[in-house]
Amino acid sequence: MTIQLYDYQENLVSKTRKAYIDGYKAPCIVAPCGAGKSIMIAEVAKMTTEKGNRVLFLVHRKELLDQIQETFKTVGVNFELVTFGMVMTIVNKLDRLPRPSLIITDENHHGLAASYKKIYDYYSDVLRLGFTATPIRLNGSGLGDVNDLLIEEVSVSWLIEHKRLAPYEYYAPKLIDTDELKKASTGDFTKKSMDKAVGNTIYGDVIKHYESLAENEQAIAYCHSIEASKHTAEIFNQTGYEAAHIDAKTPKIERESIIQQFRDREIKILCNVDLIGEGFDVPDCTTVIMLRPTKSLSLFIQQAMRGMRYRPNKTSIIIDHVGNVNQFGLPDTERKWTLAAKKKSNTGSDITVVQCKKCFGAYEQNPERLCPYCGFKQPIETKESTLKKDEEQELEKVSQSDFKIVMDFRKPEDCKSLKELQELAKNKGYKPGWAWHQAKVHGLIN
Ligand SMILES: [Zn+2]
Repeated sequence: MTIQLYDYQENLVSKTRKAYIDGYKAPCIVAPCGAGKSIMIAEVAKMTTEKGNRVLFLVHRKELLDQIQETFKTVGVNFELVTFGMVMTIVNKLDRLPRPSLIITDENHHGLAASYKKIYDYYSDVLRLGFTATPIRLNGSGLGDVNDLLIEEVSVSWLIEHKRLAPYEYYAPKLIDTDELKKASTGDFTKKSMDKAVGNTIYGDVIKHYESLAENEQAIAYCHSIEASKHTAEIFNQTGYEAAHIDAKTPKIERESIIQQFRDREIKILCNVDLIGEGFDVPDCTTVIMLRPTKSLSLFIQQAMRGMRYRPNKTSIIIDHVGNVNQFGLPDTERKWTLAAKKKSNTGSDITVVQCKKCFGAYEQNPERLCPYCGFKQPIETKESTLKKDEEQELEKVSQSDFKIVMDFRKPEDCKSLKELQELAKNKGYKPGWAWHQAKVHGLIN
């Protein structure tokens, strides 16, 4: 069976073909979640096997394998010429495998792990192709050590514009103490520090925001630990919203029944840690509730975009309680990917995301300073804090409301440590020296 590829998918595939002609050995296709990655992978595999050449297809999670095999079947890839495998399995039987002509690696950003390297080294003269939405590792480095070219064609905003992804609204009422977060050697936050940061979260506020922003919508809640996920489900249940928790140890039958109830809208809120991620098929939903801070752009993107599967007239609602947006920007923030080892702009951290003082909406700054969600006009943030009188009053009003204090408008005298001053400086675009100076002035350092 032939499946008609969209123009942009076609372009990506032909750009890849050209890359090999031009002498590249290991290009990587960068395509956002929702771009139809599986269909492109299947197309490449089909082209390869039709010439009688063998494909080795690598994944790091079993769920990804189930998904891709379905698509290969639909497209009509010759299974006799494909070896599917989990990296961990393949690496242990390299000497017993038929030699491939092409190695395809899904979720290619995991590619630095020793097992991948071992496979690539073993087949050092075999062509490779990677796929990822986020060609960046947890430590912020690019993929230059495993790939020699990044092939891009469409962005998230393009896919939204062309009805391949649903548009979204992003709200970021922060409910955790992000100052507590500490990075582990693996690159993401430590469990202990997340426990601390999330510890004082008032779950009533989680419910309150769900009710005001996404009432009765089908939602997936991402939590930082199994305990927190169970707790979140419990609180929702107590308030009268049917909720359930699932994790990797939930028995298959129970998990399937929960997913089915979620599909039937009998369960409104599905709580998990990082289970609903790459390759995990869940029914369509609109809303994502983030209670899991992360340092991983890749994880952030996957979780944030979970509700953006296209359906006519749908708008996805993302409620970020953990300040992820301040680190990574928005799902459709334009990112400049590179293969270089370190490139700050890869993470999108240089993006000016503004948070509405009134509705918590997060959006990229616009010249009119108008919130696209509620129409509130944001006060000017000036470097010399020479706010006009009326704007000051407006600010007063906002901070006196029942909303939490918004970081951006904290004054230096409100900061309790150098770290807070540095954060303030970063938010306002001041030079780092400013924070040091203020810390001295306010007696926070000697
Ligand atoms: Zn607003």
